[in-house]
Amino acid sequence: MKILLVVCDGLGDRPIKELNYKTPLAAAEKPNLEKLSLIGVKGIMDTVAPGVRPGSAPAHLAIFGYDPEKYYTGRGVFEALGLGLELKEGDIVFRFNFATVDDKMVVVDRRAGRISERTVELAKALNDISIQGVELVFKEAVEHRGVLIMRGEGLSWKVSDTDPGKTGLRVGKCKPLDSSPEALKTASLVDMVVEESYKILKDHWVNRDRIKQGVPPANVVLPRGASILTKVEGFKERYKLKASCVAGGTLYKGVAKFAGMNVLNVAGATGTYETNYKAKVEASLKALKETDFVFLHFKQADLAGEDGDYKRKIEVIQRIDEALKPLTVLDDTLIVVTADHSTPCSIKTHSADPVPVMICGEEVRRDCIEGFDEVKAAKGGLNRIRGLDLIRILLDIVNLAEKYGA
Ligand code: ZN
Repeated sequence: MKILLVVCDGLGDRPIKELNYKTPLAAAEKPNLEKLSLIGVKGIMDTVAPGVRPGSAPAHLAIFGYDPEKYYTGRGVFEALGLGLELKEGDIVFRFNFATVDDKMVVVDRRAGRISERTVELAKALNDISIQGVELVFKEAVEHRGVLIMRGEGLSWKVSDTDPGKTGLRVGKCKPLDSSPEALKTASLVDMVVEESYKILKDHWVNRDRIKQGVPPANVVLPRGASILTKVEGFKERYKLKASCVAGGTLYKGVAKFAGMNVLNVAGATGTYETNYKAKVEASLKALKETDFVFLHFKQADLAGEDGDYKRKIEVIQRIDEALKPLTVLDDTLIVVTADHSTPCSIKTHSADPVPVMICGEEVRRDCIEGFDEVKAAKGGLNRIRGLDLIRILLDIVNLAEKYGA
């Protein structure tokens, strides 16, 4: 039996007055999820722990069965993996912003006018930097963002950010966050990287061009969020499951890669409102033919939650439901629908409200709950589980769980 795990990012919500105190999921028309619910067991899930507002990366790690306490040091590692960079064990990975500073290193624009073009050229120029034998890799990401890999002996991820957080302040000095010589060394390296980046970027042709056009030059990089790659066993070794991932957003691809999944690139899967829902479902069904486990990620409910737009959240849920129609006739596949966290429209950010979860399939001991939303799921047969429990429960249903004790 195969497993298809559908994660609708930020799906969970709180009651909304204008919806007569229903959540967007409860208010949405979702015939396909309802049909699936008839062969499923439902519950609610604290992806990290009750009362913890999880970031997307630690929440996904937990859902995949990797304890975030142990494996999550920061987002940089997952962004880098999601961008397709090859990482080595012990690599220190930062996220960075291209920013604008004046000649006294005072921050004028933290996002360099949200630069969106030719950052590939800037990153390329920076890749010529080498400091004290430490290898540096710069890679541009969306808009003003990028990742920086530091590779070498005696480095640490316990260092502070350099972005002062607002304009008009000088670029911050990177501070060691513990008393180890490694942290001290890394902090001073980061300061050097910032200085060198300014030297290289301030007269770069891309920036001379930007100044001519009257837009802020991207003349410095500000590293933040240091993290370290810890090697883990992938799905294949850990669970005997060959796994694939269908996602648009870099972060999700990165977490999947970390867990040893084969990350598929699907045309039209963008991680934005304009994503091609149907193409993603088709790609997942195709992947199920060759793999045992497919992780399908939809980002849009989270976007709508962060926009505080409950109408849009309903619309997005309905589009996901429509795209999931082919799942209602699948044989020999366990279908799991859940979220990584709640993103209530009322607070426009993640909350610790547990997410609904539903496991559907012929072999599942179905409960009496018809339909799928936060309130109904709370009455289901799964009760309340933690993120780390999910994969174990799935492995048991597909008879891959090992016996505990004699
Ligand atoms: Zn998320």
